[in-house]
Amino acid sequence: MNKVCLRVNDPGLEAYQAIGGYQVWQRLVSGELSAEVVLEEIKASKLQGRGGAGFMTGIKWGFMNRDAPGDKYLVCNSDEGEPGTCKDTLILRHNPHQLLEGILICAYVIGAKVAYNYLRGEYIREFNQCEHALAEATKAGLVGENILNSGISIQVHHLLGAGSYIVGEETAMMESIEGKRAMPRNKPPFPAQKGLWGKATTINNTETLASVPIIIERGGDWFRGLGVENSAGTKIFCVSGHVNKPGVFELPMGTPFTELLERCGGVRYGRSIKAVIPGGTSMRVIPAKHLEGLTMDHDAMRKVNSSIGSGGVIIMDDSTCMVSALTHMMRFYHDESCGQCTPCREGSGWILQMLQRILKGQASSGLVGQIHDVAKKIEGKTICAFGEAMSWPVTSFIEHFYDEFAHFAEHGQSLVHDPAKGFSWHEHVNRNVE
Ligand code: SF4
Repeated sequence: MNKVCLRVNDPGLEAYQAIGGYQVWQRLVSGELSAEVVLEEIKASKLQGRGGAGFMTGIKWGFMNRDAPGDKYLVCNSDEGEPGTCKDTLILRHNPHQLLEGILICAYVIGAKVAYNYLRGEYIREFNQCEHALAEATKAGLVGENILNSGISIQVHHLLGAGSYIVGEETAMMESIEGKRAMPRNKPPFPAQKGLWGKATTINNTETLASVPIIIERGGDWFRGLGVENSAGTKIFCVSGHVNKPGVFELPMGTPFTELLERCGGVRYGRSIKAVIPGGTSMRVIPAKHLEGLTMDHDAMRKVNSSIGSGGVIIMDDSTCMVSALTHMMRFYHDESCGQCTPCREGSGWILQMLQRILKGQASSGLVGQIHDVAKKIEGKTICAFGEAMSWPVTSFIEHFYDEFAHFAEHGQSLVHDPAKGFSWHEHVNRNVE
């Protein structure tokens, strides 16, 4: 199978050069290849952002006027905080040179002389790996001042976060790089107009940038051909939850969900699937009845009212109590709200409290509708997409599993029991209710 990002398992410069690494970059700085040709190839490839939003990378790069005077910046978003997602870590750890080459190519195309790669706070090993790769590339003259005697200079810096989820939001990340608290900014202006230090900035996800060198090497048509219509190339999927062998897999877009499940050894204990979250917990949950014939691509996900998001696939078997699962998720979102917007700050707290009342047996079924109403009222009324990220799991869980929520609220106990563990989920969650 053609791999795009997970091509090598050796983070050294020699290993990357052995598979043709840095050849595109050398052609670019030598003038053999132009920035315009690279931009057109990226546009032709239909590469979409791999961080979650899926915006066309070529269009995003095209927002930058590389010839305009003044500083410009590139930011690589390696914060990877979406629950269920652990894809970028493999690139950072095992293939940092390909990412670095992608960063250099993008920086050159958009006219940036400085690039930042911002890693999540827990990625200390990955940070060290990237620093090592940067030192190797600097020594080889591939990055820094007067690259390969071309007169081109691009500086790359690695930054380590401090454990916040919201810093993964692009404008919050720019605030953090500027030394401030990670609070999202109002948009517009968008980063390409006014980004880091008020200058034009492009921000791309790690997997997106790591895909760039091989796209230029083999061509946009080749990349597009790996996937399906409206979903080009491959995608890294991280599968967790109730499967026998959780893992990370780079597969062509459009791969059947059943194939992905097979690679994970199927559902644990031979049970059946109850639901799947396909792209990190911020995406809408898909109930089992919609899984038949499902493929892992944007169009197929849209048809079942969800999204491929970050590629963090969470499998839930029929022992899962959806009330408990959603409460765990909402505890996370309530903790991680930056607090700027009232609907997000207060709404996440209200939803969490109402869910906890259901778990404690202090509710009636009317409360389920109220939770849904509060979540609906958050959507579209906040500064950043965190509002939707928190609201979508709530509304989709309730819409697909209303009976389960209503039963718990009415009877003070879950419909679901876990024979494998020998106790009911109600007992389990009661032990964990704050
Ligand atoms: Fe902060 Fe939430 Fe508003 Fe985003 S939506 S800016 S996380 S309060």
